[in-house]
Amino acid sequence: MNRPVERYWERRLENCRKSLKSNHFEAYLANDRAGAKRIFMEDILPKIQVKSVSWGDSLTFHATGILGEMRRNPDIEILETFAENVSRDQLIERRRQALLTDLFFTGSNAVTETGKLVNLDMVGNRVGAITFGPKNIVIFAGRNKIVSDVEAAMKRIKSYAAPLNAIRHPDLQTPCIKTFCCMDCNSPDRICNVWTITEKSFPAGRIKVVLINEDLGL
Ligand code: SF4
Repeated sequence: MNRPVERYWERRLENCRKSLKSNHFEAYLANDRAGAKRIFMEDILPKIQVKSVSWGDSLTFHATGILGEMRRNPDIEILETFAENVSRDQLIERRRQALLTDLFFTGSNAVTETGKLVNLDMVGNRVGAITFGPKNIVIFAGRNKIVSDVEAAMKRIKSYAAPLNAIRHPDLQTPCIKTFCCMDCNSPDRICNVWTITEKSFPAGRIKVVLINEDLGL
């Protein structure tokens, strides 16, 4: 039994981790979402000063269960930017304030084998935070997010992640929720507004990436 699938992912994830590290990201490998949570709680959190946290929309981050741990910590202030019963204007204002928190969690739409993060946002609060603002960024990415290069990342996002992300928000009225493929729309609800390619972390180690050997998120 030579475990070809397991060995494939172990090697591919390790190569990606090394590439991220050489691009000045702090990079970790987890076997599963529980392992990702353990890495955050035991290896990352004790090394950083955190009094306030917020997060960007990410199914992968939510799958780790870390948000529950943060909510249970009385010493950490949680800035809720997705709260129900709060007006859209207030949520947008909170997302501005989230750029000044000590720690921001999110996912990445794609991670290249050459160690770059590629993201596409509707509002820009997530890519804004990754780019500048919170002192620490922790990104969780399942193995399904790994692609060969930036071109493959953009293709993955526009042909798969973006239409599915639109579909999971039933209040949006974009053509892709019916066609299941990108129509490069001009809808007011268009979720594809701001691209970022994060080639390196600056300062070194500010962005921490936890790669997870599971298919997670979109
Ligand atoms: S550009 Fe418009 S149609 Fe294309 S994925 Fe984004 S929201 Fe959907």
